Amino acid sequence: MKPVLKVLARPSITEGMEDFLREARLTWVETSEATPAERLIEFAGRICYMSFGTRQHRIGHSDYISNLIAQGHESVLEHACWTVLLSDVSRAFTHQLVRHRVGFSFSQLSQQYHDESDADFVAPFGLDASPLALTEWQEAISAAQKAYNAIKETLKADPNLNNKEANRALRSAARSILPNATATKIVVTANARSIRNFLLQRGAIEGDYEMRAVSKLLYDMMLIEAPSIVADFECKELDDKSSMIVHM
Ligand SMILES: Cc1cc2nc3c(=O)[nH]c(=O)nc-3n(C[C@H](O)[C@H](O)[C@H](O)COP(=O)(O)OP(=O)(O)OC[C@H]3O[C@@H](n4cnc5c(N)ncnc54)[C@H](O)[C@@H]3O)c2cc1C
Repeated sequence: MKPVLKVLARPSITEGMEDFLREARLTWVETSEATPAERLIEFAGRICYMSFGTRQHRIGHSDYISNLIAQGHESVLEHACWTVLLSDVSRAFTHQLVRHRVGFSFSQLSQQYHDESDADFVAPFGLDASPLALTEWQEAISAAQKAYNAIKETLKADPNLNNKEANRALRSAARSILPNATATKIVVTANARSIRNFLLQRGAIEGDYEMRAVSKLLYDMMLIEAPSIVADFECKELDDKSSMIVHM
């Protein structure tokens, strides 16, 4: 099972930008290839110095955004946000992901409201290199599934609890047995600055295959959505065909 990323929402430009320029009688020479996210970031940056019209010296969104990053003026990047759905990722991975507090918002599948009897499990990369390790892993997963169902089906909830809270109590007891490998889904909203911080910290940790796989998905998304945001990163393919997102 490999992580899957689906883009749910992305920046879009409304008529407000044109309205402002027209009303202020300002011109802005843009590059035609700029994506909506890149246009938004460049516009926000230019507002700081009102560098439109005769005050526009730099032409080209990628050059402009690279300069913002080089100057450490990265708060401007925060205006561009994306919402993605990550699925087929492990709870171990999402536990690390949600440590990123700034510029991220999360909504994750609940193990209290959702019955996990049919949960999937994410096998660690390379586990099949050892038949013994693979067998042990599969047996531990089966045992956890069996225990989950046994706890849920045999435990009696406090009769004073209403249905909703009784289910919560039973699932809480049952889920305590589920492993880090349990597959989950999480909706993530992140801005361009926080995505850069994530890639910087997480994209090239050699031993963390799942983290690198998600970093690659995010990097690939950014190459389409706003390539100038990740222009100072590159993707390296390793001998085992996994990828590493490296800051240059
Ligand atoms: C290789 C590696 C190993 C790790 N090991 C562990 C571990 O063993 N245990 C563990 O608990 N975590 C571990 N972490 C998680 C790590 O400590 C961070 O919680 C996580 O990477 C998020 O980073 P962040 O705080 O920079 O991100 P964010 O929370 O998104 O913050 C972004 C930036 O905002 C600023 N900021 C945020 N909050 C504050 C604040 N309160 N005060 C001042 N500035 C702030 C900082 O500049 C920060 O870099 C590990 C991370 C990595 C990459």
